[in-house]
Amino acid sequence: MVRFEKVCKRFGDTVVLDRLDLDVEAGRHVTLIGPSGSGKTTILRLLMTLTQPDEGRILIDGAPLDARARKTIGMVFQQFNLFPHMRVLRNVTEAPVHVLGMDKDEAAERAKGLLEMVGLGDKLDARPSQLSGGQQQRVAIARALAMRPRVLLLDEVTSALDPELVAGVLDVLRDIARGTDITMVCVTHEMNFARDISDLVVMFDGGRVVESGPPEALFHSPRHERTREFLSAVR
Ligand code: ADP
Repeated sequence: MVRFEKVCKRFGDTVVLDRLDLDVEAGRHVTLIGPSGSGKTTILRLLMTLTQPDEGRILIDGAPLDARARKTIGMVFQQFNLFPHMRVLRNVTEAPVHVLGMDKDEAAERAKGLLEMVGLGDKLDARPSQLSGGQQQRVAIARALAMRPRVLLLDEVTSALDPELVAGVLDVLRDIARGTDITMVCVTHEMNFARDISDLVVMFDGGRVVESGPPEALFHSPRHERTREFLSAVR
């Protein structure tokens, strides 16, 4: 469903992605791991068209990633990025109404259902500042899902949270992973998160894929020295 073909990305003299090939099949939950600076976030930003490849192609369902395909991709950021002046419900209805042209009542009904699903059915009228970080992140997840994405990108979504709030967000993501056919691409430094949520883990270094496999296999018997080093450093 998502394909990177020989994608190169440089910032000045820094080669961030070096002829990267990557395939994510529809419905898969893929986690990208690797050292800081290895280009993981750049991959998500390329999919969001926040930055462009220098060379190579990115395909969605076999067609070049364009503005239309981009609308099928949603993202949740490390820092929530909620609209601070809008109440919770409006945060979730804003883009469906103004970007997709959805009817306001329909958008509100859907938003309520999604907020219920992430455990915030009683916070529709709250302002983001009245919520904990974990609650804000759950609003951000509902907001991303309100756009009915086929691909959901998660960039370090638990790393700005106090430890006791991480589990609630992970529970929500696990439910989404199990209960929907949405394709997920996650970046995380939390190996428990990767193990919980993904059916494929991809290890990156130097702008290339070092190895990939199901979490049990990759974590327990990595084939490459670079993966072993990385895993022992983060665990
Ligand atoms: P990761 O997510 O694996 O930590 P990133 O994709 O964030 O890695 O960054 C990869 C490299 O690209 C880093 O060296 C980073 O400094 C550089 N980089 C990322 N974005 C920019 C940018 N907008 N301008 C210059 N350098 C950038």
